[in-house]
Order: sequence, then structure tokens, then C-alpha cells
Amino acid sequence: MGNTKHTGPIKLSKKPDPSLWASKVPFGLGKIKPHHIRDTMKVVWENKDNLPYATRILTQGVCDGCALGVSGLQDQTLKGPHVCTTRLNVLRLNTMSAIKENILHADIDELRKMSSTELRQLGRIPYPIIREPGERRFRRISWDDALDKISDKMKALDPKQYAFYTTSRGITNEVYYTLGKVARYLGTNNIDNASRICHSPSKTALSRSIGVGASTCNYKDWIGTDVLVFWGSVAANNQPVSTKYMYAAKRKGTKIIVINPYHEPSMDHYWVPSIPESALFGTKIADDVYQVNIGGDIAFMHGVMKHWFDMEENKPGSAINHDFIKDHVNGFASLKNKVQSFRWEQLEKSSGLEKARMIELAELLAKSKSAVFVWSMGLTQHRFGTDNVSQIANLALLRGFIGREHCGLMPIRGHSGVQGSGEMGADPFVLPGGGMDEKNRKRVEEIWGFDIPKWQGDIVGVSLENAILPEDHERKLKLFYMSGGNFLETMPDPDFVKQCLENVDIRVHQDIILNTSTLVDAKEATIVLPAMTRYEQPGGGTSTSTERMVYYSPEIKGPRIEEARSEWEIYVDLAKRVKPDGQHVIDFKDTFEIRKEIAEAAPNYEGVQHLKDRGDVFQWGGAWLCEDGVCPTPDGKGNLISMELPELRKPEGHFYVTTRRGKQFNSMIYSDKDPFNAADRYDVLMNEKDGQELDIHEGEAVVVYNQHGTFNGRAKFVPLKSGNIEVHWPEGNVLIPKGVYEHLAGIPEYNAAVIIEKAETYFAHKDTKYVEKRIDELEMETS
Ligand code: SF4
Repeated sequence: MGNTKHTGPIKLSKKPDPSLWASKVPFGLGKIKPHHIRDTMKVVWENKDNLPYATRILTQGVCDGCALGVSGLQDQTLKGPHVCTTRLNVLRLNTMSAIKENILHADIDELRKMSSTELRQLGRIPYPIIREPGERRFRRISWDDALDKISDKMKALDPKQYAFYTTSRGITNEVYYTLGKVARYLGTNNIDNASRICHSPSKTALSRSIGVGASTCNYKDWIGTDVLVFWGSVAANNQPVSTKYMYAAKRKGTKIIVINPYHEPSMDHYWVPSIPESALFGTKIADDVYQVNIGGDIAFMHGVMKHWFDMEENKPGSAINHDFIKDHVNGFASLKNKVQSFRWEQLEKSSGLEKARMIELAELLAKSKSAVFVWSMGLTQHRFGTDNVSQIANLALLRGFIGREHCGLMPIRGHSGVQGSGEMGADPFVLPGGGMDEKNRKRVEEIWGFDIPKWQGDIVGVSLENAILPEDHERKLKLFYMSGGNFLETMPDPDFVKQCLENVDIRVHQDIILNTSTLVDAKEATIVLPAMTRYEQPGGGTSTSTERMVYYSPEIKGPRIEEARSEWEIYVDLAKRVKPDGQHVIDFKDTFEIRKEIAEAAPNYEGVQHLKDRGDVFQWGGAWLCEDGVCPTPDGKGNLISMELPELRKPEGHFYVTTRRGKQFNSMIYSDKDPFNAADRYDVLMNEKDGQELDIHEGEAVVVYNQHGTFNGRAKFVPLKSGNIEVHWPEGNVLIPKGVYEHLAGIPEYNAAVIIEKAETYFAHKDTKYVEKRIDELEMETS
């Protein structure tokens, strides 16, 4: 943690710099690129029934899109407007009216014909509804009856047989905190959140490497750092306003390096709409792109370090920051031994990069005085995601790129407020203010006034799988309470997930809209409860951005949904019904009282109790965590972690597949066509040379398959690392094995070995496919 405070937004130079232009043709005419003005007009049209409210949300509220974070239209990094089409697209969730009754109560098969996009467009959930076995339609139910039914069931169950889950969806810290507390009050540690499927390895890895699971620096540190590295992160697509910061960084001479299997067009050049020069002529973003194999990042980073150790032999001090290592780092000797034990050929094979390229990056970083590493799901969504992230921390620690200006480690988040979910304790491994260790548990028990269960709660993937355990198993999932989320579209193997969802006695969906999971049967009842958005919540709420800014978002005047309630209030109401004795320990008067308790239970959040007006914000931990190299670990030092190369099991003739995002916000799809590369949702992105070898032509129908599933699409040739292919998420989840988790952080594996064939050939030989013939070989992949 540090004492230095963030110094607020800076001004961007207005003088153009033609050396950064992406094109001399104004507005990128004729190029494949987003049309921001057209998209904005579309959003205005969509919100025409509620424009004044939409405007108030944009100008007064904290963005409920990605976790870059902005209050109103001004951020903490650069002066000038901050808004993007992701936020504008999400806006409609807040302004639309309720679903029409005749549609809400239509035959379930009629609703099931709709996609999640179509269901979302129907409108908000107006009042509690229920569907029991044999019923073809949802029927209205009162709040009392709904909560009594859920609480009666909970009373009859062992708390290990129910589980809570919360997505992000604009959810506030107050809601996360109350849910974490209510779950423990009810006696369960089965509580998890959306970061389990995105950044849980970042938190786990950073905790073991530097003692704290959050970004150590600010976006302002990008601007003027020597090197800004985006590793497995397409920030231009998922956190669009980050391109404005990239532009500012380039104006200060920062080199931007992108490491990804696919040379993503949006990270290559971008037309930043709020900067006139860039809106007209675009901006070149990446100075260099390293196209690494899917899963080849650890080897690449070993290669960088291996060269650093070689440089040191020739000239000590030319690559490693020895003063920093001596004072602030453990594990140097064992890391050095481990790295030197790898042969260049091994590293080249695993990373897919030539030695010379690894040396290039090593030398660039070695001669740089500062660097910021930004990463995302390209690193985390692997069965070795925690090692991927600790490996980045290794690079930063060896060079002393941490705890000072223009340096740091940044797991950039894609979902507003998700950073706060774990920090508030809505997580099976943590409580507010720390882990589940004896000391922190006792401390929180004192504050809460009740005992916290000692047993280890399950991560969400395991909770889901517990639904198919035998009836008498002590962890058989019988009641699943979800705030948002659509596991049918976020978890691997959707057919298996459906089976799990159907095998729960009572499933509760507390949400603002319907999605495809809401429509799945349950053994006793599916109950749907209407939630308020963050802008409707009386007393407002706070959310924490990637750079640890805790923003206050006020309640915003506007139309309201008939019976929607604040999510924290619903949890408290339920808890009181399940365990009425001692209910005073779980009661809150309002969100101000919750914030007061958060400040006590989560000491990093000291100051949150004072947030009460629009625009109020503070940054926990100061400008830089680990300031001056002092890490919040027991001995104050960072830990270098030695690791093996991951075993990449790709049998001969197979490709690795990973998933990518198109025009979407997490699992919500906003267009079938990606504005950056014109790819359709079912396009299979592949290298042209791979296509030629398989006699596959651009646009041709192909089948991608393995023993987990089959994906029908069309070949699209893009600059993607040979031997690797990409499909869109969540459509491509059919190819991903179920039940494979990273062993420390519990994130599901989202990559697999696949075969790709022309559809014509595949269907001609369907009966002889290896699902029947070569099962032994394929079994190896997930064993
Ligand atoms: S970049 Fe993220 S935080 Fe900023 S406006 Fe867009 S969605 Fe909101």
C-alpha cells in the first residue's frame, strides 16, 4: 500500500501529431471500423421513450458497463468527455419498461424460442413470478409468498445444500457485502461471484506474488511509461475509452506492445471519437505485436527472463534490478535456476515465437526504466491461469517495475464493480478485509456478531456440478440462488450446465431481465425476483473500478419498475425469514449504514462511509500498491514464483481453440458483426496458411469438433498464429470441456484441442469420426 495519492486528471495536448495517424483518409472511409456516430444515434433512438432519464444516468451515475470506471462523463485520468458505445448500449437496460404481461406469461416454449438478446429486448421483470413442474407459464406471485417459499426450503436444508451466486451487472459493493454477510449468517460459505470466470487467477496470483490481489497502479501510469504491454487483453474492444489513454501514452512517447495469438485490428489502430485528430485520421496503437501460441505465454516469459540472465552474465546489472531484488524480493536463486534449465527449443515450441523475438522483448524491457503490464482473459482463462499471472509479476519484480510512477501490474476488468465482489466477501475463499484464516474470521465475527461457518465453500462451477450428486449427498445442491448470471452462456459445455440447472429443487433468479437460463425447468420451482438497477437503489451505491477507485453512484430520479426491490434488501428480508432469531445482526436501515459497516469490516475501504454525493470517489490503497517496493506480504517482500512449462496437449493434426469477444458486453451480444474485422458470430478465425494446408477456402463452411462438441461455422482468414483458431464466446463454449478448473483459483479452462474440417468432408465421413475411433487419444486432453 502507499501514501501517495492520485493527483487527478491531466489535460491532453490539442496539437495534432500526424506521425501517429492510422490513415490519411478522413474518418477511415472505406475501412472496416466502428461507426460511433451512427451507433450513438441508434442508442438515442432506442431510448427515445425515456431520454431525460437516460441523460441523467449518463451525466450523474457511475457507468455500469466495464470496470474502467467513470462517474458521469468525467474520469480521473484525462480531462474531457468519457463515454463509449458499450455504456450507451447497456443504457437501455436501465431505461426500458417492464415486459408486457401477455409475453411474460406466454407458453414457456414460446419464450424458449427466443435468444438471450431477444429476451433482453422484451423489457424488465416487473414482479415476482414462479413456474412449478407441469406449468407451461410463469404465474405471478407475491413477494411474501416467493420469499416464504424460498425460506421454507432453506430451513429444511443443510446450508451446504444451497449456494448463492452474484454476477456483476452493475451490482454495488453494498449488495455484495450484504450478500456475503447474509450467506454466512444463514450458515453457508457456498457463495461465489462473476470474477470466478474472469479474473480469479489474477487475484490469486497477485496475492501470492505481491500480497495483494488488485491493480497496483493507475491508468495515468500508462501515460509516459516507457513500455505499456497488453498481454492477452483487447482493451480497445472491451474497455473502449482505454484507447484515449493509449493515445495520450503515445503522445508521451510510450511504446505499446501487444501480445496475443490474433493480431487484433482494434489494438493495431483505432479512431478515438472524443479526440478530433484521432476521430479524423485514426491512431496507430501497437508498436509491435507478438503472436504467441494459445497457452504459450509462460514459455515466452521464460524466454524473456532467460535472455536477461544471459545478459547478466556478460554485463551484471544490464537486465536485473539487483538493488530492488536485494531489498524487496524473495526466490531469486530458484527462479534463475528454473528459467535457465529450459532450452530455447522448448521455449520456442511452446510459445510459438522464435528466440530472436523473445530476445527483442527482453532487450526492450531491459533498457526501459518503467513499464506497465496490463492483462486480461487471454492469460487468466487457462487451467494454469494463476501461473500465467505470477509469471508477469516475475517480470515486474526482476526489473523493479512496481510501486512507483509509470510502473505496475494491472488486471484490467471487464465488468463494472466486479473488483468489489471479492473485496466485499462475496467469495468462498475470502471475507471482507482478508481471507478465511482464523484471525480474519474472528475479527469479522466480532463485527458481525455471529459465527461464520468454518468449512470451505464451493466455487460456482462445483456448486453447479453438485446439483447432479445423489439426493442424500451432504453437498447435493438443492437450492441455487443467483443474482444475475446466465450459466448456459458463460460456462463450458452448455448441455451439461442445463442438466445441472434442471436438477436443482428450487432455482431463484434475482435479476432485471430474463435470459435463457431463467427458462430452464427446476424440480420444484423456478422463482424469478425483480431487482433494481444501481441507479434505482435508494441511498445510491458504490462500485470499485480496476484502478481501485471507489465511486459513489447516487439514486437517480426517473420511472421505476412496478415491484423491483433493492438487492441488499431482498437478501436481508430472506435472512430474517429463514433465521428470525437474532435477525438484528443482519439488519440495515439503508445503504449509508451498510457503507459504515464496510469501512469497519474491510479496512482498505476506510472512507467509503463518507461517500454520499454525486461524483464522490476515493482510491483505496493510494496511487501505487507496494509503494517503494514494500509489499503487503508477511515479510514485506514480493515473491518470485518458479514454474514449469504448461503441458499443451495438442495431438497431431489438431488446433488449439480459444474464445474471443465481438460486439458484445460480456455475454450480452449487441451485433452479429464485429465492427473491427467484420467477423460474424459463427466465423472461425484462422490463419490463411492453415486454411490452404487443409484445402479450406475463405468463407467456406467448416466444422470444428472434439469429443466435447461440434461447432459449425465459416472459415475467416485473419492474421492469427498458425496452429491456433478462435471462435466467439459464448457460442464456442460447446467445444470446451466441463469440470476442468485451474487448481488454485477455480476458473474453468476455456481452451481445447480441436480438429477443423471442411463441412463437406466432415459430413461425408461423419460415421467414421474419431469420437468413436480415437477416444483414447482424446481422453488425454482433460485427464
Ligand atoms: S470504457 Fe467502460 S467505464 Fe468507460 S464508458 Fe465505456 S463501458 Fe463505461
